[in-house]
Amino acid sequence: MVRENQLQILNEGATCVCIPCDRQFVFINGLLNHCRNAEVHQGEWCERCQWLFVSPAARQAHVDNSPRHNICTPCDLDFSTAALLESHDVDVHNMCMDCGKYFRKVNDLMQHKRSHLPLEIECLGCDRLFSEFSAMMIHLESGNCESGIDRDDIDSYIRDCGYVNELYDGLMYQCPDCEADFRFASALCQHVASNACNQNPEDTFNDIESCIKCYV
Ligand SMILES: [Zn+2]
Ligand SMILES: [Zn+2]
Ligand SMILES: [Zn+2]
Ligand SMILES: [Zn+2]
Ligand SMILES: [Zn+2]
Ligand SMILES: [Zn+2]
Repeated sequence: MVRENQLQILNEGATCVCIPCDRQFVFINGLLNHCRNAEVHQGEWCERCQWLFVSPAARQAHVDNSPRHNICTPCDLDFSTAALLESHDVDVHNMCMDCGKYFRKVNDLMQHKRSHLPLEIECLGCDRLFSEFSAMMIHLESGNCESGIDRDDIDSYIRDCGYVNELYDGLMYQCPDCEADFRFASALCQHVASNACNQNPEDTFNDIESCIKCYV
């Protein structure tokens, strides 16, 4: 609902009127200053829209509903466009552009964003689809795959493909770039996918896939 402006501004040197006060002004600036400063109009004036409302409640309803006002409540900021508010939400409040959820930390947002990736990784053991290679590996390691593959199988398949470091107590997976060690192949996959180092994730995924494919 558009509420009527309580000002009457006629073009080109004609009079400007504040209707509720029944006051005329010769110059528009006089009228605007009246709206900004007069005690009777406290809370009724919207500076951005140059609009005088009948009451503070009417002005508030306007601010809440108008596309010209885009409020961030926690910061008490009012943006002139929805796009500006959105980029503020993304930059300051770690908002996901895809679903509008907020996250306390950037890392949580990054982690969450991966859930919006399309399902295009096919399980190496069954026909389930995953959005990420590492999620598919977790599925295999968990023993939930119809193929019956489990973590021991994965460890034995990958043993010979150059990612394994047996200096430690048992088998460890090692990143070829930064030499970080991981207990699970899926953890190595998450590491390379996170761009934590310079290892190309696709290279690692292809290597692991070809190790597994030798056996399944
Ligand atoms: Zn007035
Ligand atoms: Zn306004
Ligand atoms: Zn904010
Ligand atoms: Zn999201
Ligand atoms: Zn599977
Ligand atoms: Zn690494």
